[in-house]
Amino acid sequence: MKALVLNQDFRPISVCSIQRAFVLVFNKKVEMVASFNGHKFHTVDNEYSIPAVIRLQCYIKVPYRSVELSRKNIFERDNHTCQYCGSKKDLSIDHVIPKSRGGGSGWKNLVTACKACNARKGDFTPEEAGMPLRQQPFKPSFLMFLRDYIGFKYEEWKPFLTAG
Ligand SMILES: [Zn+2]
Repeated sequence: MKALVLNQDFRPISVCSIQRAFVLVFNKKVEMVASFNGHKFHTVDNEYSIPAVIRLQCYIKVPYRSVELSRKNIFERDNHTCQYCGSKKDLSIDHVIPKSRGGGSGWKNLVTACKACNARKGDFTPEEAGMPLRQQPFKPSFLMFLRDYIGFKYEEWKPFLTAG
């Protein structure tokens, strides 16, 4: 589980581990806005709610938050599905335009591909290989990423992901 971090104005700005959220709440660095229903953290003497949404005490300026380009996030964007055949197994990252052909390493040239498709496509473009993409790869915005790819997992986050 992860905690959603809100700015003082309730806009989502980040995500952190629940361990970290718990420490921040415990040390009164942040306010707990929502907790995970039905989950408690037990110590010998006490039980604590597990923070699902926390809010900073002070407003911080966040100019633009982009989604970190990583293997994991590309898989998330592509719904853990091979963008060529739809398989959900043996996933890897494919350069749509191969590196050897000058293809870049950004959001728009990287897609999730199963190892079989990746091998079959080799050093070809999708057109040359006759392997059309199921969707054009795109760069997700941070809020969209939270909402569509991570937020849906947690009911507790939903009320805070509607803005923007
Ligand atoms: Zn495939």
